[in-house]
Amino acid sequence: MRIGVLGAGQLGRMLALAGYPLAKDFVFYDMSGSPSAGLGEVIIDRDGQYLDDFISRVDRVTYEFEHLPVAVAEELAKHKPVHPCPRALEVCQNREAEKTLFGRLGIPTPQWQIADSAESLKAAAEELGCPVVAKSITEGYDGKGQAVLKTPEEAQAAWSSIGHPRVIVEKFVNFKREVSIIAVRAEDGDLAFYPIAENTHHEGILRYSIAPAPALQAHSQQDAEKYIKSLLNELNYVGVLTLELFETDDGLVANEMAPRVHNSGHWTIEGAMTSQFENHIRAVSGHALGNVAARGLSCMINIIGEHGDIERILELPYAHVHLYNKGERPGRKLGHVNILADSYEELVWRVRNCAQFLPGSPEFTSTLTPRG
Ligand code: AMP
Repeated sequence: MRIGVLGAGQLGRMLALAGYPLAKDFVFYDMSGSPSAGLGEVIIDRDGQYLDDFISRVDRVTYEFEHLPVAVAEELAKHKPVHPCPRALEVCQNREAEKTLFGRLGIPTPQWQIADSAESLKAAAEELGCPVVAKSITEGYDGKGQAVLKTPEEAQAAWSSIGHPRVIVEKFVNFKREVSIIAVRAEDGDLAFYPIAENTHHEGILRYSIAPAPALQAHSQQDAEKYIKSLLNELNYVGVLTLELFETDDGLVANEMAPRVHNSGHWTIEGAMTSQFENHIRAVSGHALGNVAARGLSCMINIIGEHGDIERILELPYAHVHLYNKGERPGRKLGHVNILADSYEELVWRVRNCAQFLPGSPEFTSTLTPRG
């Protein structure tokens, strides 16, 4: 079976690495022209003139990023199965549609309102009560196109800095930490849920994920599964879906979803019985899902901006190094290291030991610290 992947970055690369043992072949289709997947055929198509060629060469289509035109996914779906479905893409590209769907399915979100002018942004900030976070409803991700308002008077400046005709204004959540759940749905509707991961960001970029997340409230895993299950079934979704959540004193609050394999699930490569990548390929290809149980305690450390002393990390007996074959550039994801341990104490020690060789890594401040 030949799988067509829209996008040719590191996620596509890891999908292919997981798919080859299952005798899948890969064709990547990229509109941007800087592929890094480095595996399989790559079609670079800035003007969309090779789309027919791509369709004719593949049996199934999936994607590794959610900012591709929905029209392209819909066109492809007329010819070949596209998983996840274009509607999932549509929902994820519009924060208003996404939060509306969450609300309809009973998934808790921050309180929110829509603003379409500096005046209505000010009014929303007054009504919701500051601080609030204003985000462009489209074309923004990872903290881009966003502003935090500490007072309603900051509305005009925030409106100008976002520069978008429609924004979602959210009540600022005083979260204890950020977590995510990754789940997979097969063609026959079978479901599997990975354990929740704890995610540490720095300067808007994910740095560490620990899974299973330590010290979770008793029903958090159950709640997260219930929320993501309702999304998967509502969208008749096939493949891996990620739901990013805030952990608060009153339970989990949903932030956003990503219709794809996710950086906070890279730990599953060695840390779970079946990785998120293999399970996505299984689902998209119409196979049974693999076991999602954790093999132990895992931490994923992202390699950001510069590679650091990879040789020293390779010497560590517990470190699994994954490099994406990309050039160094500030803020760029170049690879990651997966570390496994039998106890959180041992995990913290190993992560700290490894992170010293990664100059771009901020201090490891999870709920695990300080101990020992
Ligand atoms: P997003 O692009 O929606 O994922 O937001 C990027 C980051 O901004 C998140 O990972 C959070 O750290 C922070 N953030 C987003 N929305 C909120 C909110 N309503 N309250 C507090 N922090 C937020």
